[in-house]
Amino acid sequence: MDTTSKEREALKHKKRVVVKIGSSSLQHSETGGMDYVRMERLVRELCDMKNRGMDVILVSSGAIAAGRNTMHLKPKGSGGSVALTMAEKQACSAIGQARLMEIYQKLFGEYNQITAQILMTKNTIVDDMNRVNATNTFAELMEMGVIPVVNENDTIATYEIEIGDNDTLSAIVAAMVGADLLILLSDIDGLYTDDPRTNPDAEFISQVNELTEEYLSMGKASTGSNVGTGGMNTKMIAARIATKSGADMVISNSNDLSNIHRIIDGEQIGTLFLAHEDPGFDLPVFVDGLHKKKG
Ligand code: GLU
Repeated sequence: MDTTSKEREALKHKKRVVVKIGSSSLQHSETGGMDYVRMERLVRELCDMKNRGMDVILVSSGAIAAGRNTMHLKPKGSGGSVALTMAEKQACSAIGQARLMEIYQKLFGEYNQITAQILMTKNTIVDDMNRVNATNTFAELMEMGVIPVVNENDTIATYEIEIGDNDTLSAIVAAMVGADLLILLSDIDGLYTDDPRTNPDAEFISQVNELTEEYLSMGKASTGSNVGTGGMNTKMIAARIATKSGADMVISNSNDLSNIHRIIDGEQIGTLFLAHEDPGFDLPVFVDGLHKKKG
């Protein structure tokens, strides 16, 4: 049994938590069909967090994947699958987002929780009026005890205004709502010194006290998923946003969703990045510069 650090213990007392789940964790890779068992477990974990008295925000991918499946298009990355045009992708996200919400509403409803949908683009943060409006809406929903389900507005997001991945989006949401914890559920256990799939000597890092250049360069290795858009690099961008905004962040494997309550119970699971609030951190300026950095 791992000994837990005082930083892990502190996770028991978090008040407002953003949880991000990726497309690959929500669908069966072979068929592209929704994984209802996983979704049900996720919802149950989140409802339990609510019952502990925490505010909960879910950032869920899977709109495009669900739309592809609805339209009988092969799942991304599977044999015989075709790349979608921008218009097809936008159409699939419109179809799939509604499906996704339908399932979430049904599952959260079983535990008497109310959900709300928030779709964002880069403009939601960069444009002052949009940002203030979105921030106010989040605040009101929190006040009402509702669980916001957030995604990028892929139906209208093109290169110029897209955030591009939900790791980054979830950290932006954490900053906007003043969350004190962000949990990124991924298809990897956390941060390694190198890509563990290619380097057997790669070491697991369970805690990052400060996000130095050394750690950021470890994030260059990507995950194996074909479905989502987030590799480890986007998780490092998320870590920068979250920790500078005053939130701790944990990357954990989504293959076992009980990891969510185990993290909240202070267990040594995944990689914990400690918050270092930076009062000079300017979220809109950082987000505006994202594409320029990504290239
Ligand atoms: N917003 C995309 C979707 O819902 C996924 C983006 C991501 O996985 O990072 O399909």
